[in-house]
Amino acid sequence: MATLVRSHNAEKVIERLGKKLNRQVVGSLAACVHCGMCTESCHYVLANPGDVTFAPAWKADRLRKIFKRHYDWTGRVFPWWVGAKSVWTDEELEELKDIVFGKCTNCRRCSINCPMGVDFATFNRTVRGLLVSVGIMPEGVAHVSKDQWEIGNQMGVLKEDYLDTIEWMEEEIQEELGPEARIPIDKKGANVVYTINPREVKYDPRTISDAAKIFEVAGEDWTMPSEGWDMTNFGLFSGDDELGASVAQRVYDKMEELGGRKLVISECGHGYRSTRCEGQNWAGKDVSFAMESSVVTMLDYVKTGRIQVDKSKNDKVYTYHDSCNFARSCGMTEEPRELLQLVAGDFREMVPNRAENYCCTGGGGAMSMSEYAPNRLKSAKIKADQLRATGANVVVTSCHNCVDGLNDLIKHYKLDMEVTQLVNLVANALVMPEKPVVEEVVPPEVVLEAPLAGRKILVVDDEPDLRVFYGSVLEDNGATILEAADGETALELAVAEKPDLITLDLSMPGMDGGKVFAALRTHEVTAEIPVCIITGRPELRSLIYDRPVPPPEGYLDKPVNEETLLRNVRKIFEVGD
Ligand code: SF4
Ligand code: SF4
Repeated sequence: MATLVRSHNAEKVIERLGKKLNRQVVGSLAACVHCGMCTESCHYVLANPGDVTFAPAWKADRLRKIFKRHYDWTGRVFPWWVGAKSVWTDEELEELKDIVFGKCTNCRRCSINCPMGVDFATFNRTVRGLLVSVGIMPEGVAHVSKDQWEIGNQMGVLKEDYLDTIEWMEEEIQEELGPEARIPIDKKGANVVYTINPREVKYDPRTISDAAKIFEVAGEDWTMPSEGWDMTNFGLFSGDDELGASVAQRVYDKMEELGGRKLVISECGHGYRSTRCEGQNWAGKDVSFAMESSVVTMLDYVKTGRIQVDKSKNDKVYTYHDSCNFARSCGMTEEPRELLQLVAGDFREMVPNRAENYCCTGGGGAMSMSEYAPNRLKSAKIKADQLRATGANVVVTSCHNCVDGLNDLIKHYKLDMEVTQLVNLVANALVMPEKPVVEEVVPPEVVLEAPLAGRKILVVDDEPDLRVFYGSVLEDNGATILEAADGETALELAVAEKPDLITLDLSMPGMDGGKVFAALRTHEVTAEIPVCIITGRPELRSLIYDRPVPPPEGYLDKPVNEETLLRNVRKIFEVGD
């Protein structure tokens, strides 16, 4: 009879499991009585009725069996009696990977609904960490972790691009607040050191200028750090405590170097949880400075009168989505509601809400794992139903990850809604301090040239309405427009016409945008033409960023409005208004 030989990775996972067994994990492993009360808490279960493999207790049993076989005396002596089972092959580890990464967003809704106090999400993260330690993980997780290890932020934003974006946002606020308005970098001893999510630099810089506007109008003594500015932490998602420690330490070190009084964390659920709550445990240190969410900071400004707001400026119908990390895991449920109702008019509560709210379904790093996207979007039906039932046309959330998750499901379920954050609403509601009256000097009439005059732009998108929209916005600003509805036509036009810029959709029938992008970058005629990706499928980012070619010059998530489109195109061309 052949002897079964355990794979090297399986050996390591079993050995390392022993080192992860703290009181919380063992308590959760031992306490489950299989009552099933957690089952209906899980959005995956609700979207897949009858499929037991989505039930939290079933998923937990995959690890529980291994634990019992190797670390519990009953399982070592009577494995058949207590359902203990070891793990032997890499194929079994791959199956485990599909469970812990593909069937759970670590949202902790089941954890708070377990009468025995079993925290499934915690040991789901533990298993993720064990698999990551032997190199078994979704490609997206490997990619993002590598960027955070090597470049210092999870989206691979280079220091010069970060500083360039800050400078650009400073110019934006100066247009409104005057030349004295600043985004100070590395100011020593400031009252507030403001840290952000790299998504803000890459895809949503308006959240930076909106926050800067609020700090300036409040007269805050503030700064942004040149390094250690990424308050997100992929270690929370991947289960890699070493990554968690390294990322948190980077933020804390910079804060200590600057001697700031208070670290303010922009609106991001997992960033807040990682930096304020978990990071000190991973890094093994107690920090000496205060930390708070920007939601708390903004609320304080409004309540103490440091900024004046006019809620009638936000005149749509709003609902609020609680981020799992921000609300359920960190208890931040009332502050965002209070602020929202101070700066916006019509607020409709989502049901259920607060700690019982359902995950946006993009949590736990799910947006980076494109292989599980179909199941993620299927499980998002419960969230889509929740959103629809509010009757709101704007969903507000204090989490960048949720912004992506919600945008994706809104598109998938064709909801007539947009997503925004409190920082955008507060900035929009700001009542500007009155400027001193200066005598008006009438300048001689100057005929301004349209900012995109003389530029030829190829707009590539399979949706005719969007081609017309992008084309007319750019044409109104002086550009000459070429259009292509598919990848093949786009390549032909690009070679024949050599446009100054190409806006490119990723998800198109036939040749997808990723292949078009690669072909453009490797063709001698088109290799240098700037490309601005405009996509409604953020999970397809890997189609462009994983290629061994220079990254695109611009990237926008749909839906795109006129202001965002123009701002990004102008930035690529380095032209003003
Ligand atoms: S509610 Fe708790 S005890 Fe019951 S099955 Fe779920 S994890 Fe086990
Ligand atoms: S943590 Fe959330 S996604 Fe994971 S099993 Fe529990 S309820 Fe489901």
